Amino acid sequence: MGIFKNITEISRMKSPWLLHFDCGSCNGCDIEVLACLTPVYDVERFGIIHVGNPKHADLLLVTGTVNHRNKKVLVNLHQQMPEPKIVVAIGACGLSGGIFREAYNVVGGVDQVIPVHVYVPGCPPKPEAIIDGVVLALKEFEAKNEKYGQGARGKRREANKEQEKS
Ligand code: SF4
Repeated sequence: MGIFKNITEISRMKSPWLLHFDCGSCNGCDIEVLACLTPVYDVERFGIIHVGNPKHADLLLVTGTVNHRNKKVLVNLHQQMPEPKIVVAIGACGLSGGIFREAYNVVGGVDQVIPVHVYVPGCPPKPEAIIDGVVLALKEFEAKNEKYGQGARGKRREANKEQEKS
């Protein structure tokens, strides 16, 4: 079981699977997210796979403003993702509600309803910034694993310490 867990963790770090959810953006941010998958940026060459099922996703990328209608869907998707899960909020709308924040039906940024680990500002952010956000998310991922002492690297480090002591 331990080996399986370690393999899973290493696989996630080497090939994170991400789910993209549009909370109701103007599609500017979505176009930039999609640009990351085109041959120009081609994030799949780094092992990053875009999936459609939250149960398969390690990272959740959220674009757009959270409103009273879509917040339930966002929470539902987040709850279906396996731990440890990382959320990346993209664009001014995802960060704070952006230009729509004063609208009657707007809740605000993504962090008003689910925990956000990485914020990518911009209106819209460039694909390079989004890729940078995903890389930061992977570091968060590693830190989260190590914090709870579940990380393969953390365990290796502990094993090395034990060896040094003996
Ligand atoms: S941040 Fe800008 S580009 Fe992105 S969804 Fe909001 S208005 Fe559109």
